[in-house]
Amino acid sequence: MEQLAIHGGKPTIQTSLPSIRNSSGRYMGDEEKRLLAEVIDSGCLAFIYGSKVTEFERSFAELIGARQAVATSSGTAALHTALLYLNPEPGDEVLVSPITDMGSVIPILSQLAVPVFVDVDPHDHNMDPAKIEEQISSRTRAILVTHIYGSPADMDPIMEIARKHDLFVIEDCAQAQLTCYKGRVVGTIGNVSCYSFQQSKHMTTGDGGMALSNEDERFGRKLRHCMDKGWPRERGGRDHLFLAPNYHMTELQAAVGLAQIKRLKGVIEARRRSAKRLDALLNEIPAALPVSSLAESYETRFFYVFRLQVEALRVDGVEIANALIAEGVPCFLGYPGKVPLYKYPMIKDRRTFGTSGWPFTLDGVRRNWDYADEICPNAERACRESIVIWWNEKMTDEHVHQIARAIEKVLRAYGR
Ligand SMILES: *Cc1c(COP(=O)(O)O)cnc(C)c1O
Repeated sequence: MEQLAIHGGKPTIQTSLPSIRNSSGRYMGDEEKRLLAEVIDSGCLAFIYGSKVTEFERSFAELIGARQAVATSSGTAALHTALLYLNPEPGDEVLVSPITDMGSVIPILSQLAVPVFVDVDPHDHNMDPAKIEEQISSRTRAILVTHIYGSPADMDPIMEIARKHDLFVIEDCAQAQLTCYKGRVVGTIGNVSCYSFQQSKHMTTGDGGMALSNEDERFGRKLRHCMDKGWPRERGGRDHLFLAPNYHMTELQAAVGLAQIKRLKGVIEARRRSAKRLDALLNEIPAALPVSSLAESYETRFFYVFRLQVEALRVDGVEIANALIAEGVPCFLGYPGKVPLYKYPMIKDRRTFGTSGWPFTLDGVRRNWDYADEICPNAERACRESIVIWWNEKMTDEHVHQIARAIEKVLRAYGR
């Protein structure tokens, strides 16, 4: 048997693979430069006086199929903008998945609402609709649903539950630009949908985000006030209607975004093609089970994720991940990490506002979990047993073959 790289053997992957960190794994070029130059030449970098952010909002909203659009400084800012619109009472509850970016939870805490974690479906790691109703209380206001890894959450039952209990639905589409659920583009189904254009996402402006909605113009105007200091600029003059931060996107980001929109479909197709190739290769490796998507979906492959069949292996996921990294596979164990979100100090140790522990300790908050417990068993398992490979649009067949060979080598070496 070949010696593993982690034990001093020769790594399977000798070349460096393309990465989302730089141009090796990203499409970026003349169109971005041309539009950026236009902004610089105009001398106006701020959205309040320029036109690029507005143009970017219109183009992106049109692409997704939404009527209202508000660009923001990040995906977290877009989600916070949606939470500000909802304007929960302190101590109200928002349902959220423990398998998402912390950017989904920070806005909930920032509004002094309590995140209530709903366990995931073990097959696709999206929020499990069957686990939602048991978490609903008289204080539940919203469901914040992430479409994880580019695969759609099961929106029909989620929307039905939301209607039944009169809940606001925020779709977190940061990893799911143009993902489709039963023929519908995600981000057009809930009340508001939020996007991130951070460096790793399908299209990027470095950092950046957007909130979209199919509600009416009045809704759109208020959504904008929520990211603009509560300032109704459209009325002229200065006014501040309620507490809200400044989450403006700049003209520079929007210029890059306008160029990136044109590349998005190509990016998605390239990621899907190479990911499908890896699906086929992993089919031959018994201890590796690709994470699936719902039937009738068009998934856009943000990460490539597979589950380890741990019963067939002699070591745990940590060792497998380390061995894969040593072989040159750009991967890590579990998303967001080895544990679900509620086990990070921010939540588990209630490190929020001074030493208050708000919102968890507010009067009238009935939920008092010990976040060290296994609150969501499927999510815990997903974190312990999933290998998450950084994916990008420049993975070639050769790269995919190398990755599959490395996985096969490691799983065979550690097989029972
Ligand atoms: C990236 C991401 C966010 C946060 O976006 P930022 O732009 O990094 O603030 C939120 N949710 C999900 C699912 C993400 O992947």
